[in-house]
Amino acid sequence: MSAGSGYCVDCLSQMYGEPVKAISGYLSEVGIVGHQAECRNCRARKETFKASPSSEPEGRNAEFG
Ligand SMILES: [Zn+2]
Repeated sequence: MSAGSGYCVDCLSQMYGEPVKAISGYLSEVGIVGHQAECRNCRARKETFKASPSSEPEGRNAEFG
């Protein structure tokens, strides 16, 4: 049981039907940080990301301008 594991960008790309470039761009845009872990899908140990963000990001900045 490995809590907190996610999926690598390659698998997320296949799941969402988007190119890897778009996935990584989206992840950085929403502030999802990758962690070195075993991918839940392909079992490769690489940078993985959680597909469903459940916790709010801390330090929210209201940027209106
Ligand atoms: Zn994977």
